[in-house]
Amino acid sequence: MTRPVIPAANADTKPFWDGCLRDELLLQQCASCHAYRHPPAPICPNCLSDRHAWVPASGRGAVYTFVVVRESRARGWDKMVPYVVAVIELEEGPRMLSNLTNVEPEAVTIGMPVEVIFEELDGTTKLPLFRRRTGNT
Ligand SMILES: [Zn+2]
Repeated sequence: MTRPVIPAANADTKPFWDGCLRDELLLQQCASCHAYRHPPAPICPNCLSDRHAWVPASGRGAVYTFVVVRESRARGWDKMVPYVVAVIELEEGPRMLSNLTNVEPEAVTIGMPVEVIFEELDGTTKLPLFRRRTGNT
């Protein structure tokens, strides 16, 4: 899928995007209260600590909510329709905005189990997308 926008990393998000390049979904985990958080941020929203570690997530979760985009007049995005924008609730707790892939939009349901896959965009960036998960893997 050709995408009109490629994410730009900043100081807070660079470890996340570097992990994606290695096919690793990383989350920040607070070093004080051990809460996971996403999107990346310099301060823990739970205890305000600025100490954290980057830890690999399972890559598994479930569809928390979603919308099917069937029409877009924005240049570049118009060629992608229809596509599914979904909020994924990861097993670790944080929710992540992404796209579902390899699934018909009509087949998507709230609570559908999903797993991350990584889509290479331009040789320097991989995007974490989610596909339907079957079985207990
Ligand atoms: Zn904390």
